[in-house]
Amino acid sequence: MQSSSYVQGQWVTGEGGKTVLNAVTGEPVARVSSDGIDFAAMLDYARTQVGPKLRALTFHQRALQLKALAQTLMADKERFYKLSTATGATRTDSWVDIDGGIGTLFTYASKGRRELPNATFALDGNPEPMSRHGSFIGQHIHTSLEGVAVHINAFNFPVWGMLEKFAANYLAGLPAIVKPATQTAYVTEDVVRAIVDSGLIEEGALQLISGGVGDLLDHVTCQDVVTFTGSAATGRKLKQHPAIVENATRFSMEADSLNFLALGPDAGPDTPEFKLAVKEVMREMTVKAGQKCTAIRRVLVARDHQQAFIDALSEKLDKVVVGNPEAEGVTMGALASRDQVEEVRARIADLAEGAKIVYGDPARCEVVDADADKGAFVAPVVLSADAPFEHTAIHTIEAFGPVATVMPYETTEEAVALARLGGGSLVGSIVTYDAGFAQAMTLGCAPFHGRLLVLDRDCAKESTGHGSPMPMLVHGGPGRAGGGEELGGMRAVFHYMQRSALQGSPDMLADVIDHWLPGGKRVQTDRHPFQKHFDELEIGDAILTDAREVTLEDIEHFANFTGDTFYAHMDEDAAKANPFFDGRVAHGYYIVSLAAGLFVEPNPGPVLANYGVDNLRFMTPAYPGDALRVALTCKHKTKRENTEYGEVRWDATVTNQNDEVVAQYDVLTMVATTDWTPEA
Ligand code: NDP
Repeated sequence: MQSSSYVQGQWVTGEGGKTVLNAVTGEPVARVSSDGIDFAAMLDYARTQVGPKLRALTFHQRALQLKALAQTLMADKERFYKLSTATGATRTDSWVDIDGGIGTLFTYASKGRRELPNATFALDGNPEPMSRHGSFIGQHIHTSLEGVAVHINAFNFPVWGMLEKFAANYLAGLPAIVKPATQTAYVTEDVVRAIVDSGLIEEGALQLISGGVGDLLDHVTCQDVVTFTGSAATGRKLKQHPAIVENATRFSMEADSLNFLALGPDAGPDTPEFKLAVKEVMREMTVKAGQKCTAIRRVLVARDHQQAFIDALSEKLDKVVVGNPEAEGVTMGALASRDQVEEVRARIADLAEGAKIVYGDPARCEVVDADADKGAFVAPVVLSADAPFEHTAIHTIEAFGPVATVMPYETTEEAVALARLGGGSLVGSIVTYDAGFAQAMTLGCAPFHGRLLVLDRDCAKESTGHGSPMPMLVHGGPGRAGGGEELGGMRAVFHYMQRSALQGSPDMLADVIDHWLPGGKRVQTDRHPFQKHFDELEIGDAILTDAREVTLEDIEHFANFTGDTFYAHMDEDAAKANPFFDGRVAHGYYIVSLAAGLFVEPNPGPVLANYGVDNLRFMTPAYPGDALRVALTCKHKTKRENTEYGEVRWDATVTNQNDEVVAQYDVLTMVATTDWTPEA
């Protein structure tokens, strides 16, 4: 099969190219070539034809498209599974790649609608007061970059590798050009075909290069983002590409990572944590035949338990069945290619200079239903390093296969030091039931790691495991791991957006960003804002209430009615002794209730529900005799697609007779649109 690329809305097939072999049988499976592609035109098309259409959609519209796409891919997934076996993947391996990739689309589709507004830009953080009289204010915003997300991906995850990055860049409003690794590009191509055929995302928002990238990188600008997953050597080379350096093009790299698992000294052979650690290491060595950027490469064990750990791990590995992923009973498939077999053997030889092989033979692998000389098979190999501070290769050389090195530590400080010798990693697991060890390891290792899993008997059953990057959590790591950060919920989306600081008057900025800001004007109209439908409400619509006096009777009534008889409300002497109060004070929740009593419009109307308050702060105590009033101001409106109501956020500011702010918070309501008809 000759692989094709998807370029400017067309499938194009290059001449010649590299022949990719089936990892299991050694038979040719695809020819991959990007010959004849005009890479500059691909970028230009994405920037000029696709980007503007994509940016015109709101986050919610893009998120809904991603959801529909995820549903369609899910329905097609058996086709991808079938093709994936040629990469050497077992069904479990493909689940990580295929279901994992589609799952990431679902997660971003859902988070996008819950955590981003139904708008084309997003605010970042709270407004920053910047002037004494409130006429000058600051606010950060995120807007979509106007370039292209160029993803250069690794061979090990042809589906997840594309979708985990694409989900974030699409939600951010950027079109993508994906370049999968040649070795497994035919799987990516099949998924791209399904995406294109679905017609569910903007045409051209995903272009594919099967084969080399030619002069593509010569044409990147400051509006583009280049992401890379693969070897550190290639990553470093691309990071220094003149156009990337010249234009300060955002470049995110994920490369070699010498991830660790540390078993606590408390976790002797009879503990649940010991067994969990053995299982986790075995799984990380064998899933994807160890070809995972997050796989455990270094196992740190208290010296007393080192041999017991190696014995237990060996026993588990004895049960691993290597072979044709389609054959019954096979639990570990092949590496991606025979080249990778040679690569892994060479790296094991490097590691063996400072460690001894205690399990497996890199040169020999028994396989089921396959020819060991034709397929890309390597048996699991465990090394043991007795002097882990002396031989640095075990901390710097990544054998990208079913290989791990067990090493001893004497003290917690040594365990921390060993973990850090990886020079920055994607993930570390701390397996212990001792909170002291967990804390020392976590705080000692966090600056060097993008993610830490603290695993014990209490969370094991539901734990997502060491090796699974979760879409909502950071995936990426410092130093040797590349310094990038691919996933992490909305963090990943904002990598494709520009954060800008806006400064100006509250009223001008409110009009610019559709958000009322402190110090901005409050517009009182004859109609109570609670009588206005969602589409009739304007940012700044407000009600300024009359004052209501706080009385001791009310405080006592509230206390007795709710049962909140805390001394500060009930005992004058005790309240006075408190450095914050001059005597008995009103309950904060009474103030909030009193405020609601002042601002609500009781008659039936378009306000359907109050679904919470945000950012509630009590700033000045309220004493009997104080007169409180409320300013309630429409701060922000957002409406989901296809609903007859929207969410309205109101600023509520409660002040006393001296204009001091007593309480401040956001009131969150659902408000019907004029299209809404009440239930009969
Ligand atoms: P490479 O770094 O060679 O390739 C990674 C990606 O970069 C592929 O898509 C590759 O394309 C592309 N690429 C290579 N050279 C260039 C270039 N000059 N310009 C643009 N793109 C380029 O890594 P491999 O896939 O060969 O893997 C080698 C080693 O990398 C593994 O053995 C493993 O140690 C490590 N690795 C680490 C990963 C991690 O996440 N930690 C993931 C995968 C690999 P093409 O395939 O067409 O050459």
